[in-house]
Amino acid sequence: MDYQQRISFVRERIRTACERVKRSPDEVTLIAVTKYVDVEATRELIEAGLTDLGENRLQQALPKLTLLADAARWHFIGSLQTNKVKDVLPYFSVIHSLDRLSLAKEIQKQAEKLDIQASCLVQVNISGESTKSGLSPNEVRDFLEETIRLPRIHVCGLMTMAPAVHDPQETRPFFRGLRELRDTLKADFPGLEHLSMGMSGDFEVAVEEGATLVRVGSLLVKP
Ligand SMILES: *Cc1c(COP(=O)(O)O)cnc(C)c1O
Repeated sequence: MDYQQRISFVRERIRTACERVKRSPDEVTLIAVTKYVDVEATRELIEAGLTDLGENRLQQALPKLTLLADAARWHFIGSLQTNKVKDVLPYFSVIHSLDRLSLAKEIQKQAEKLDIQASCLVQVNISGESTKSGLSPNEVRDFLEETIRLPRIHVCGLMTMAPAVHDPQETRPFFRGLRELRDTLKADFPGLEHLSMGMSGDFEVAVEEGATLVRVGSLLVKP
């Protein structure tokens, strides 16, 4: 399948998942995770109609960013070292991996210097696996209370990664858990609009559970 076909295939599956739960597909943004491919392939994906791209490492992303910074909206989806913030912020529209106060403070500082607002999602370790980064669900409220005082940071939602499982249906409780957490917090933090959840193996379940940003890599782009 060429890129055009793969994109249609994924979009169609998103549309069907939306239909099952009576959501509008317009509520779901497909982020193509381009970490597996080079600059040329990334350019082809943009030309094939993708508008939102995700990368998890700055170093790997730089050649693409240098040439294609303005050709797409870039999402930073990997864990972010504090010392990389100043290089990440100029390129990326959304950071999906805000998971600690020291990082929030550095984003505040660098965003101030650049005179921008930084859109961030708080990463939550909803499954509690020790290998996963993110705040535990019961830490999120206090964290939001702190970050809301940082005027350059706009927390626009929550992000999670489900455990690797055989049957995608097994991810449902984790995605539902993130949505319920968001719904609970939204009364006090109305900016929590987005849920970044779902990857190649489980994006349909995530969409059924309310994802607004799905991060699809291998299924779309892997050679
Ligand atoms: C690589 C990656 C993805 C995409 O994973 P696929 O299974 O290839 O779709 C999504 N989110 C994060 C944080 C990633 O690192």
